[in-house]
Amino acid sequence: MKLVFATNNLNKLKEVQEMLSNSIEILSLKDINCFDEVDETETTLEGNAKLKADYITKKFGYNCFADDTGLEVESLDGKPGVYSARFAGEPANSENNMQKLLSELKNVENRKAQFRTAVCLNLNGKQFLFEGICKGEILKEKQGEKGFGYDPIFKPKGYSESFATMNSEEKNKISHRGIAINKLVEFLTNYKD
Ligand code: IMP
Repeated sequence: MKLVFATNNLNKLKEVQEMLSNSIEILSLKDINCFDEVDETETTLEGNAKLKADYITKKFGYNCFADDTGLEVESLDGKPGVYSARFAGEPANSENNMQKLLSELKNVENRKAQFRTAVCLNLNGKQFLFEGICKGEILKEKQGEKGFGYDPIFKPKGYSESFATMNSEEKNKISHRGIAINKLVEFLTNYKD
């Protein structure tokens, strides 16, 4: 079976292909000659994941899945959430996003937060949603050099250090995206047409 992952991030693509058996071939957007930019205009993670997956299935006719992730901070009523990539405005910049979040949480005691990933799969005319959550808290200052996005200021629950101190294998085991993708892989592995 061929399945498109609606992403331009080749690391994400490789990660999923490695988790799947050879009977499922993951194609990138480039593989299907799709160079379109799909704007994430919805107001929920699920909405954006569905938007991207539907765009590919409708225009190119492929079975397809797409993901969208946000950082939800409890004391900010779930912000930045679906707007995590551009929290500090355009152009998207991780350092500015982190500084904005740290300043909004200055003197705030409740630092609970979670990363949440929504994955939408279009398969043979049906649609399926998967979710992965990683709970934790926002640190008072940056820690670690690895990873991307908000990793230096996010400490997962039960761990003493930020995501940015972990290598990708360690992080994938407990991360929101790792959990959502694992659910997708389990579903596909057991799927019978
Ligand atoms: P995307 O949907 O995977 O593109 O994620 C949207 C935004 O959420 C990214 O631009 C990052 O700012 C943030 N983000 C997503 N996943 C992670 C992560 O694993 N660590 C840190 N930040 C993340």
